[in-house]
Amino acid sequence: MKLSEAIRIGSVSSKQGFRQYHDSWGDYRCALGAAYYAVRGHALVSPQNLHAAFPVLNERLPPNFQCPANAFCLPPRSGFYTLFGIIITHLNDYHKWDRLRIADWVASFEKSLESDVCALESDVCAVESATTKEPELCSV
Ligand SMILES: [Zn+2]
Repeated sequence: MKLSEAIRIGSVSSKQGFRQYHDSWGDYRCALGAAYYAVRGHALVSPQNLHAAFPVLNERLPPNFQCPANAFCLPPRSGFYTLFGIIITHLNDYHKWDRLRIADWVASFEKSLESDVCALESDVCAVESATTKEPELCSV
């Protein structure tokens, strides 16, 4: 399940929480806590489990990445780059974006990753076409 879908599904069964994945009773969950609950059916125990469930959280954002909430905001960094997962927490906790709004933004990021893959596959197809001298239709 995509992270964006999991956030949407997990948001149905809880109210939005901040600065923690979930409260003690599971009534409140942040965007990531809600997503994890949607795919595993229980509360998140450790961040490692979260990243294992959604590897997209480990995607590195470009150095010139701008916070989607405010271009003048300096999003938190980890060393020289910003991890995608950190931005989700930032949007949830700092900007207080609604989880469905976060899910929409996550979906657009997931889509951009897919199109990057397609672009790469198209390049491969173009190289193969050039070497074989046969017209090939790229199915991507
Ligand atoms: Zn920000």
